[in-house]
Amino acid sequence: MSVNRSGNAAIDVHAHFLPESAVTAYRSGRAWHGIEFEAGRGGVPVAVTGASRFAFGSPLHFEPFEKRIALSEERGVDTEVLSLLPPLFRYDRPAPEGLAAAREHNDELSELTVRYPGRFLGLATVPLQNAEFAAEEARRALSLAGIVGVTIGTHVAGVNLDARELEPFFTVLDELSSFVLIHPIAPRDGMGALDQHYLRNVIGNPLETTIAAASLMASGRLEQYPQVNYCLAHGGGYTCAAMGRLAHASRVRHEFTDRALEVRADLHRRFYYDTLVHDELTLRHLIDVVGSDHVLLGTDFPADMGQVDAAGFVRGSHMLNMEEKASILSGNIRHILGEMR
Ligand SMILES: [Zn+2]
Repeated sequence: MSVNRSGNAAIDVHAHFLPESAVTAYRSGRAWHGIEFEAGRGGVPVAVTGASRFAFGSPLHFEPFEKRIALSEERGVDTEVLSLLPPLFRYDRPAPEGLAAAREHNDELSELTVRYPGRFLGLATVPLQNAEFAAEEARRALSLAGIVGVTIGTHVAGVNLDARELEPFFTVLDELSSFVLIHPIAPRDGMGALDQHYLRNVIGNPLETTIAAASLMASGRLEQYPQVNYCLAHGGGYTCAAMGRLAHASRVRHEFTDRALEVRADLHRRFYYDTLVHDELTLRHLIDVVGSDHVLLGTDFPADMGQVDAAGFVRGSHMLNMEEKASILSGNIRHILGEMR
């Protein structure tokens, strides 16, 4: 049992997972659905796909799940809602390959939730490079034991989430009132401004999330699919700070007025947001802006950019009352998942 509990169970909606089939491929020197593995700094593997390289943020992905469970208990987290490591989404691969990888991942994740009941739930991954495949796999995966939602990247090989081609996918999410975690992938900066100081992650990732949220709001997609429960990673990036400007633009700029589309200044309250902002005052501000009923515990575990004791951070905060803590730690996500299907 955890040492820092204060009565509220904690459900972490933002925690990452590497399928055992990928670990097995790594150990036997094979590729996993087009992804090669190499030994990297400190012995932590690197995933290599084409020109891109991704160093795993933690060696824990290659260790037994029992170790992860023990660490989760130490951190006061009761249930982890696992999702694939985003650099492995690979929307640039051929669609049939993406579908095969998604199916294998989702089946494994479901089996894991059954093997450790109550400890893990799962978010399915889908091959967004083909919206029909993605829709089909989302529907299939959401019928599997323990799969309670879907995770997607902030763009599909450079294409924003408001693309018309994605409509079949969002239609299925809407029909199933699905929970969907929108997570940054491959920040788009063609001029190298983010190349140093780890700014590609520090600034680029939250910017990606902001672009994804803005494209859904500015296109009308957010309101087109009213039953989808969208959650933005990393406290939504800069979404809240961008709202006044976005709403203003929608009143004065022809890009909006030509379509008679006005973005309400409070439309961002339609999203859910995780707590991963690494700052108590910023979290308090997020709650003040979007409401404590729209904030969910997220840790990014076991990434080095995650928050090791996110649950303790919420439980021990002097800026949150007991009711807010209970909602954020597990009340809100229970409510969302209870409404599914
Ligand atoms: Zn993450």
